[in-house]
Amino acid sequence: MGPLYHHLQTFINNLFIRGFHNGRLTIMIIPVRCFTCGKVIGQLYDEFNLRVQGGEDAKKVLDELGLERYCCRRMFLTHVDLIDQIMPYS
Ligand SMILES: [Zn+2]
Repeated sequence: MGPLYHHLQTFINNLFIRGFHNGRLTIMIIPVRCFTCGKVIGQLYDEFNLRVQGGEDAKKVLDELGLERYCCRRMFLTHVDLIDQIMPYS
């Protein structure tokens, strides 16, 4: 296998891939690190997802997980309704 394959495998290994049911089946691809600032965020995703689906406010959960920068918060917010809720001015 050449270097391109190696890079592709490294890229895939640095993603968390999750499927969950939220009215419909959705596949989430969460990077291990924030693309912008490099903060490690992948391991926080499961807790975020569980708490939001459990009815907690997404903004509050992000705050409590220590995700203060929008660049990191954005990585979690793939649903339009959540993006509207967290980033109303973006
Ligand atoms: Zn970030």
